[in-house]
Amino acid sequence: MPVALISHPACRLHQMGAGHPEQPARIGAIADQLHGRRLYDFLVHHDAPRATVEQLARVHPREYIERISMKSPEEGLAFVDPDTAMCPDTLEAALRAAGANVLAVDLVMSGDVRRAFCNVRPPGHHAERDKAMGFCFFNNVAVGAAHAMQAHGLERVAILDFDVHLGNGTEDIFRNDHRVLLCSSYEYPLYPDMNPPSVPGHIVNCPLPAGAGSDEFRRAITEQWLPALEAFAPQMIFISAGFDAHAADPLADLRLTRADYGWITEQACAVSERHCKGRIVSTLEGGYDLSALATSAATHVETLLNA
Ligand SMILES: [Zn+2]
Repeated sequence: MPVALISHPACRLHQMGAGHPEQPARIGAIADQLHGRRLYDFLVHHDAPRATVEQLARVHPREYIERISMKSPEEGLAFVDPDTAMCPDTLEAALRAAGANVLAVDLVMSGDVRRAFCNVRPPGHHAERDKAMGFCFFNNVAVGAAHAMQAHGLERVAILDFDVHLGNGTEDIFRNDHRVLLCSSYEYPLYPDMNPPSVPGHIVNCPLPAGAGSDEFRRAITEQWLPALEAFAPQMIFISAGFDAHAADPLADLRLTRADYGWITEQACAVSERHCKGRIVSTLEGGYDLSALATSAATHVETLLNA
């Protein structure tokens, strides 16, 4: 069964100023690596549609969606926090990034593909219900998960977030929704400087100290994520795929390698095969060393194809 690769040209136009680590070249670096490793031709390619207001409004108040739309500048940059800005192309990119997740869910649920990877930006996991922050505007993965539950009637979805930063936005959105199992690993202390408690059967948070690497990461996943996933028996698995826990990443101090991203993807695939016909929707979050990002993401996609 094939794997979809969903992206959109607008995702390469959103920019937040020269030297910003969340840069347009991230999308092309991943696409080039997929080409170079001869994976590109094995993927089913789709352009992301725009998410509709109705789809966004499942996780963001309409007033917030309106506020972000009104903030979109005619020229220059409009800052929503010191690190997060909109250029004239940002709104389009943000709508496509969220819409990629909606399409991914529809493709996977229809059986047209088994899995999907959304090579999109801006990322989403820091976006709270009514707050843009940390390079994020709309919570792409949350929009996808809400679509799976409301449009397709799923009652149990798991979100796995191995970005080096806590996905505070996803947790804010689903904190009171026990249809969602949210498993996160992240460096702490580190942005966004939150370390909320786990909630049995609902939220599994695994903070890791600066300097932690493969051993600590794999132990946390094996001892905490996997038993929770087995007990939960998800009907679909979402992945907030940030690659900034890589040892080469300039924004954090964990020590993961490309092989760790292959390993965690294998674990997710194994759970998906046991419980949900292999269904995985994965979406790019962080990852700021272009070379480490590209090789790690390509390994992730290769594993989604082959595992
Ligand atoms: Zn991150």
